[in-house]
Amino acid sequence: MTDDVRNVIVVGSGPAGLTAAIYTARAALEPLVIEGEPSSTSDQPGGQLMLTTEVENFPGFPTGITGPELMQSFRAQAERFGSEILTAKVSRLDLSAPPFSVWVGGPEGDPTYRARAIIIATGASSLMLGLDAERRLLGHGLSTCATCDGFFFRDQDICVVGGGDSAIEEALFLTRFARSVTVIHRRETLRASKIMQERAFANEKLTFLWNSVVEDLIGDQRLEGVVTRDVETDELTTHPFTGAFVAIGHRPNTDLFADQLSLRENGYLQTFDGRSNTSREGVFACGDVQDDWYRQAITAAGSGCMAAIDVERWLERQGH
Ligand code: NAP
Repeated sequence: MTDDVRNVIVVGSGPAGLTAAIYTARAALEPLVIEGEPSSTSDQPGGQLMLTTEVENFPGFPTGITGPELMQSFRAQAERFGSEILTAKVSRLDLSAPPFSVWVGGPEGDPTYRARAIIIATGASSLMLGLDAERRLLGHGLSTCATCDGFFFRDQDICVVGGGDSAIEEALFLTRFARSVTVIHRRETLRASKIMQERAFANEKLTFLWNSVVEDLIGDQRLEGVVTRDVETDELTTHPFTGAFVAIGHRPNTDLFADQLSLRENGYLQTFDGRSNTSREGVFACGDVQDDWYRQAITAAGSGCMAAIDVERWLERQGH
């Protein structure tokens, strides 16, 4: 426990959190970024870009850059201006009144840190299908991250579940390794952007299983097959896929503060007036935890900048 009260603590280290860190650091607010810590290949500090292969649409990189490289640059830039970055998970937050309390390592005892302002940038996590077998087979043939695990599926027949940009991006990446990749989608048109669709349809290793949902995953120690159900005929089919990647969207990471701040109906953190203000004065939010609409690295970064400026003005108004 420290008696020091920091100006600002940023929780999360994706594009939003690290942009907030760059801006608050340059405003001499000496931010502390609590970046999270790895608990699996698909849960790493740095947010969803750590699980992304090529990023082609982040302005300033005309030939593209990998997600992890981009996040390493964000991090280096935040540190260059004096951000302190702590590799740990926040275990508890008390946002009842400033100074706000933050615990890391465990929720008991005195708080580890206190701060006049908090920026929440905890992002969003992959949704799963809700099958019992998922827990057993995650990491054993079942994955949510092609970048992390694609290499292990060389010359195998595998599938990707979903029809959005993530699913198509993962599927295209996986064709570099796998013998065949089948996209299993619950409708007969993709949600993915036109350019991704065109690439997908042009790739000979990719095939599509339309109007189909995954009903079960087969295998005790490792994935040995995937059972799909045709939503129109209810017909069940078992496919001998030895790899399955789930890419059906995300849920916002709000567990730490869901009972303390207003959430929207869909569970995303509510911000007000087109700014980063949350329902609690002094607590600001940016990135995917509060954005169910744009969900891009560049919009997350932009909202991190907004949160930093909002914090700066809030602290000024409080006389700090
Ligand atoms: P998304 O756009 O929400 O797509 C989710 C997909 O999964 C949809 O096709 C959805 O089907 C399907 N789905 C959802 N729940 C399902 C379930 N329980 N069972 C089976 N299928 C299910 O999510 P996303 O692909 O992760 O993309 C999120 C955002 O990031 C989007 O704005 C996207 O454009 C962006 N993004 C961009 C890039 C890029 O530009 N390179 C890459 C990745 C993501 P329906 O279509 O029937 O709803």
